[in-house]
Amino acid sequence: MTLYLKYRPQTTSELDLTEVREMLKNILASEKLPHAWLFSGPRGIGKTSTARILAKFVNCTGSGPAKNKPCGECDMCREITAGTAVDVMEIDAASNRGIDEIRDLREKIRLAPMKAKCKVFIVDEVHMLTAEAANALLKTLEEPPENTFFLLCTTEPDKLPTTVVSRCTRIQFKKPTIKEMTDKLGNVAVAEKIKFDKEGLEAVAKAARGSFRDAIKLFEQIWLSEGEVTEEKAARGLGMHEALGPEKFTAMIRAGKTREGLEFVEKLATHGVNLRRFTESCVEVLREELLNNYNDSSIKKSLVGQIEGLERVYEQLKTTAVPQLPLEIFVIQNGSGSEDEYIQPEVAKQKPLKNRVRDEASAAAGKYSLDDVRTKWTDIMRKVKPKNHSVEALLRSTKPMGFDGRTLKLEVFYKFHLDKLGSDKCRMIVEDAVGEVFGVGPVRLALQLGEKIKPQKEEISGEDVGEDIIRAAEAIFKVEAI
Ligand SMILES: [Zn+2]
Repeated sequence: MTLYLKYRPQTTSELDLTEVREMLKNILASEKLPHAWLFSGPRGIGKTSTARILAKFVNCTGSGPAKNKPCGECDMCREITAGTAVDVMEIDAASNRGIDEIRDLREKIRLAPMKAKCKVFIVDEVHMLTAEAANALLKTLEEPPENTFFLLCTTEPDKLPTTVVSRCTRIQFKKPTIKEMTDKLGNVAVAEKIKFDKEGLEAVAKAARGSFRDAIKLFEQIWLSEGEVTEEKAARGLGMHEALGPEKFTAMIRAGKTREGLEFVEKLATHGVNLRRFTESCVEVLREELLNNYNDSSIKKSLVGQIEGLERVYEQLKTTAVPQLPLEIFVIQNGSGSEDEYIQPEVAKQKPLKNRVRDEASAAAGKYSLDDVRTKWTDIMRKVKPKNHSVEALLRSTKPMGFDGRTLKLEVFYKFHLDKLGSDKCRMIVEDAVGEVFGVGPVRLALQLGEKIKPQKEEISGEDVGEDIIRAAEAIFKVEAI
């Protein structure tokens, strides 16, 4: 048994999230229990475990006083823990969306409990139910059969009909704190007699990004490969994990690296990584990036595109015949489409290659368009930034107007931007970056002064002016310091 399953909380007092634990204790202490519950919050933080504890609570036949429920020892408690209780049904809404399943569910709801006192339906990812199924559920929630409990779990409560939400007692699961996670890991380590130190556990907790499930899995991996979870061993174990981590993959995608991306997917498959979970983690990484960059329209655009792409992959992974195929297609669709990306990094080191690249470059040129530049704008910025922050700042206040693989036309809105970007030093940085991103060798930068320079203030919204001026000021002060 994996450590995660072994150390799943089994009673109310074992719940790892302090707030949820206290809240649940209070509700359970009251006379009448709500028949419908909604547990919402990120994945891997104990929603389903809590639902099972509740199922035990209503069915426990232990003889102790009510506050000690569930006892964890009576037949019902044991059966529910083992997942064999006939009256406690766990339904994954993501994979049981069909009309037959719903009909089946309705039947089951109508029947009286067979063995237990109460019937409990635990519906995981309830937001994935079809409209029809959600309707059936709503009807049941409106007129709940006696001795029946519905425990709905979701990572996306916003996608649920408000009519369903309003009928439930809602418990919101927040991401655990580092302390809550290290406490949990510490308990597991002590119980398993695994050598650890505080720093090691903290490193694992941080890497798990707010998921108990991931934290324990990581902890277990490190323990199995390194023998202990001390600071040093954790760092090494996490390094290995990172090599196949979502951050690494999303960075490759952002850079349009097709071949590396495909190799990465292959590695995931051979290492037996759960691809749906991996895709989910990638979406989380990109979402975080999006929330940090929502003000930047070019970054925003490409991030949204990639997130939507991965959401589709996530769906396709349920039905695909070849498990890694959806991710491979995603990599190819988001790649730069040019194999030169692999030759390009060598160019800097080996001069003779340059001619070859140039030949390939002229062949590649002409097949690109303005849209390509817009799609790759973020990548261009990323190439420019480490070379020169000021040039990147300047680029932010320009607008791409045309690109054919040889020449990039940029519109600038201030004369001093034109002068600065037009200087040999700045020009070269941009030309090399664009060439590198498209794998076409250096391109030529053509600058033109845009319309905004005309003092027609009424045509420019206040926001635009403000933003532009700030950027302009930022850029010019930095450029002066070059
Ligand atoms: Zn019991």
